[in-house]
Amino acid sequence: MARIAVIGAGTGAMAAAARLAVAGHRVTVYERTETYGGGVRRLVRDGFGFDTGPGLLHLPAVYRDLFVKTGKEPLERCVELTQVDPASRHVFADGTAVSLPNASRAGTVSALDDALGPGAGERWAAFLNRARDAWDRSRRPLLEEPLPADVGPFSRDPYPAPRTGLLRRSARTLAEVGRRELGDGRLAALLEGYALAYGLDPAAAPPSAAVLPYMEQTFGTWYVRGGMRALADAVYERCLARRVAFVFGAEVTGVVEEDGRAAGVELADGRVVDADHVVAGAPVPALYRDHVVAWERQDAWPRFQTGVATGRVTVCLALRGAREEGAAHRTVVHSADPAGERAALAGGGPPCGRPTVVVLRPDDAGLRPDGDHEAVTVTATVPAGDPGAPGDPWGAEGAAEAFADRMVEAAAAAVPGLRERLLWREVRTPVHTEEETGSRRVPGPALAGGGGAYLPAANAAPLPGLYFAGGWSHPGGGLAHAGMSGALVAGLVVEGADFRGSR
Ligand SMILES: Cc1cc2nc3c(=O)[nH]c(=O)nc-3n(C[C@H](O)[C@H](O)[C@H](O)COP(=O)(O)OP(=O)(O)OC[C@H]3O[C@@H](n4cnc5c(N)ncnc54)[C@H](O)[C@@H]3O)c2cc1C
Repeated sequence: MARIAVIGAGTGAMAAAARLAVAGHRVTVYERTETYGGGVRRLVRDGFGFDTGPGLLHLPAVYRDLFVKTGKEPLERCVELTQVDPASRHVFADGTAVSLPNASRAGTVSALDDALGPGAGERWAAFLNRARDAWDRSRRPLLEEPLPADVGPFSRDPYPAPRTGLLRRSARTLAEVGRRELGDGRLAALLEGYALAYGLDPAAAPPSAAVLPYMEQTFGTWYVRGGMRALADAVYERCLARRVAFVFGAEVTGVVEEDGRAAGVELADGRVVDADHVVAGAPVPALYRDHVVAWERQDAWPRFQTGVATGRVTVCLALRGAREEGAAHRTVVHSADPAGERAALAGGGPPCGRPTVVVLRPDDAGLRPDGDHEAVTVTATVPAGDPGAPGDPWGAEGAAEAFADRMVEAAAAAVPGLRERLLWREVRTPVHTEEETGSRRVPGPALAGGGGAYLPAANAAPLPGLYFAGGWSHPGGGLAHAGMSGALVAGLVVEGADFRGSR
């Protein structure tokens, strides 16, 4: 039995902790805040409840696997999972709207034809076929196996150019894929919306980001009753059931090294805790600086997602009046100024004046005081900004509220009578995300292509005995991806460097 110190109680780290405990190790999680879940939080006020982090789940198989491997009770007995149908409604800048069914290729094609004109569905389907090629080529080696020492093959983009017509030259970015291959600004906006939701700037993201809409439209969109925090609760409970110990209010400031390997952690209060292995599930800068970058070439930096500069603003809206029958769970209201939105994300300055917003309206009695009220969240991907820097978009007084006004204005396209129904609102910016996770930024999933710039840190650090889990490490951020990182780290600790991924 080895002693394992885990840094942070985010979902990736907890997934690793539960698996390691089942393998017979003594696992203790050191968490700097007073609760678990990292960015997966719930705001509760006056009988209303809101997910302030992710609100939907993709690839629930990752958590099903975690629950199967760590105990008798399957995931579905611990949380109530429902498919979201329609998976999303889209309102484009010209006012056109379309509802896309959950995980139905034929239904999506006919919905797009009906809303955007004949041929739109077929063009989207042809694009999804190329996205499926990219998914098939990269899924196992990129998502389900540890990152190999030679990441060269992942620097090439697996998204293929169309085989016919004038488009045989491969696109260089996802935005270019949309422009060149979809033949309709609204389809391009649809595509870009998927990238934005993962915090990616479509003008910079590689074409392989096409796997994101493929993944959602193929494997479906899921909701956890009670909100996504219920999933974090269930993972935490599973950890406790496997005798994982948690120490809250315990910030880790460094890793102890002895004889060339990790031998424990140092806490902010000066305590030192011995361990045989250390799993870092948080972006502790010193760990990355001292134990990764110093060991490798400087040009390895992009592998640690230092290029990720986006975060989220979430506006929680408490509304009077019942949610209307048949309202879409998720509506994406696309920006009327996509170029401005991309420029703002690339420049890192003030956020776009008219952002793309994702409006979530779960039909969940547990999140509202009664049937005459509704809880709605509105989220936008924004520049994360640098604390204290002169151009910090979230430092100036009133900046967040002014931006929230514009988000609510956009959300009115998804919620009838929104302004008249508003009781109160709370605005959460990247400053809140930093309080909850340690970083203003929300890392995105690992992607092939882009010269390797979208590959996060490998799970096994160059310092023996030190491992990285969670969104800042392979295979990147997002609930599903972070859950996969937990499985990979547990496999590496238990089976050693020969571990080649779950079979
Ligand atoms: C606002 C927001 C919106 C999001 N939207 C989506 C979405 O739509 N879809 C999706 O899939 N994902 C989304 N995510 C991302 C998703 O929540 C995460 O990728 C996922 O929860 C995995 O998180 P993690 O394991 O990397 O840990 P994190 O959630 O980053 O948590 C890290 C934990 O480590 C702790 N910690 C940090 N430093 C230290 C230290 N020095 N010592 C001890 N503890 C430390 C933190 O306090 C925190 O508890 C969103 C995140 C946020 C914040």
